[in-house]
Amino acid sequence: MADVNSGVLYVVATPIGNLGDMVPRAVEVLQMVDVIAAEDTRHSAKLLQHFGISAKLVAYHDHSNQQRLDKILELLVSGQSIALISDAGTPLISDPGYHLVNAVRDKGLSVVPIPGACALIAALSVSGLPSNQFAFEGFLPAKSSARRSALDLITNEHRTVIFYESPHRIVESLQDMCKVLGGGRYMVLARELTKTYETVLSGSIDDVLSAVLADTNQQRGEFVVLIKGYDKTPQNDITPEVQKLMNVLLEYVPVKVASAIAAKVTDVKKRDLYQWAIENAKS
Ligand code: SAM
Repeated sequence: MADVNSGVLYVVATPIGNLGDMVPRAVEVLQMVDVIAAEDTRHSAKLLQHFGISAKLVAYHDHSNQQRLDKILELLVSGQSIALISDAGTPLISDPGYHLVNAVRDKGLSVVPIPGACALIAALSVSGLPSNQFAFEGFLPAKSSARRSALDLITNEHRTVIFYESPHRIVESLQDMCKVLGGGRYMVLARELTKTYETVLSGSIDDVLSAVLADTNQQRGEFVVLIKGYDKTPQNDITPEVQKLMNVLLEYVPVKVASAIAAKVTDVKKRDLYQWAIENAKS
């Protein structure tokens, strides 16, 4: 049986869909704490009921006012034990909790993790993409111009890049990824993990976008988008066909213009084409 100590904040992960993924220690801690701070008390009430947990629920999210935060700190200082949960998965991972954990640690009080499900880790673990280094970017901006700027910043990221995405923006996001990163970049789209319609699609961004457009079911549910890191050896991208195109263009236009035109008709970045032309093109 798990021990629950007074004055401790427990950060407890809950399932991302399949209730069978609730870890036994999470159930024990939630059963024993004095108070459970939840992102959405109505949503969490169902989960708690399922596991026969009847601790007192209070609402907490990062926009909660200072009074609410102070109240939780006060309870901890007075020796109560508190568990923080979010609607699904690990709190603080694109979920509330950062301000609370920060404030509790600032007071010199203990914060104890009860690990469990996390959508980005579940997706990465089955993606087949390099997992020794990765960058989690949370949700992309909702507006296309801001989204494209955010994508622009990761174009040359060599690590696997992971995003969360919602059903009403998945198509637009994939379209922007296609434009900014190039349709040829390899990606994995993990949908509805641990649930009935769990699907993991993989291929070029072009291919995945086509599959999602062709079947509206693939636009439903919750998504983790994983993008293969940029291959730092640009020569690999410059296939014989691309070289041929560059050589033809270079007969008529300067290097800069040839690189810009070729970048528009291939998935290769302008700066890589420029570099290739400087180093290799037939004079
Ligand atoms: N804290 C959560 C975690 O640990 O993964 C994430 C919370 S965030 C508000 C919700 C987003 O996580 C969804 O929009 C989706 O991108 C992703 N997500 C959550 N559950 C998922 C699932 N079962 N399958 C795929 N993605 C999921």
